[in-house]
Amino acid sequence: MRAWAVDQPGPMAPGPLKLLARPVPEPGPGELLIRGLCCGVCRTDLHLAEGDLPQRRPLVTPGHEVVGEVVAAGPGTTRFGIGDRVGVAWLAGTDGSCRYCRAGSENLCPASVYTGWDRDGGYADYVVAAAAYVHPLPGGFSDAELAPLLCAGIIGYRALLRAELPPGGRLGIYGFGGSAHLAAQVAIAGGAAVHVFTRAAAAGELALDLGAVSAQGSFDPAPEPLDSAIIFAPAGELVRAALANLDRGGTLAIAGIHLTDIPALSYERDLFQERTLRSVTANTRGDAEAFLRLAERLRLRVEVTHYPLDRADQALSDLAADRITGAAVLLAG
Ligand SMILES: [Zn+2]
Ligand SMILES: [Zn+2]
Repeated sequence: MRAWAVDQPGPMAPGPLKLLARPVPEPGPGELLIRGLCCGVCRTDLHLAEGDLPQRRPLVTPGHEVVGEVVAAGPGTTRFGIGDRVGVAWLAGTDGSCRYCRAGSENLCPASVYTGWDRDGGYADYVVAAAAYVHPLPGGFSDAELAPLLCAGIIGYRALLRAELPPGGRLGIYGFGGSAHLAAQVAIAGGAAVHVFTRAAAAGELALDLGAVSAQGSFDPAPEPLDSAIIFAPAGELVRAALANLDRGGTLAIAGIHLTDIPALSYERDLFQERTLRSVTANTRGDAEAFLRLAERLRLRVEVTHYPLDRADQALSDLAADRITGAAVLLAG
């Protein structure tokens, strides 16, 4: 089968990914073999390729927004049948026994493993995943539209929860790519006034088209004070700008797995008046289930740009250069 692998992490220009021919993997106990139909391209894949995140396994295949069809099941697996269309997302396993898992915060499990980081992911013709971490998929979406829901959508949803947006509140969104364009729709459906801050003109237009109240430059003042804000762009210098736009008591959540260093903050200017700054770390399976149900009910619009699987490196280069509106999806074809 075809499988991309992260060879030498580094800038996209020389090409840290290479396309290999590998044997189709075998599902072990509790695992499924899934034929990939398509796989979303997430900024985390770019962080892995470029070396912003440490490599956990040499020549790992990236990709954690996999929509595919179950073609074989290992021993002890009854959750899905052959031919079922399923989704493989970022969270690939936890110990299920630590204090975080027992408290319902499996996203904080120190033993957690991730698709496309610890385990081979979906930039390939086939992927093996633990059945307990595989998701049934909602109806009403094409395969390519489903892919970005599996990380961009789920993480955006968790970020929205972490931002503690009050009903009918005012939300600022920094960066408007795959994740943000889905989270914005969930917020707007809940009655929020959404203000988008982006350096990409096409992304600003998409935001307004989806019902955002305003779109402006990344460092512009907000048209009104914000109850909540979410930073999706991996840029630490946005933190002060976002905190400055928060109303008293407001909350800023940082959605990404990686952020460049945050320039020094002033307690009095940036945090006093009970403004809160918090991170978002992966997601639980419960978040995924809740979001996928919501996506179906709200009939979220998913903006996708298609690439053939063979052009995964091009898709990541385009993502690095802000050339993608919405979310990029690789089609197995
Ligand atoms: Zn655990
Ligand atoms: Zn992701």
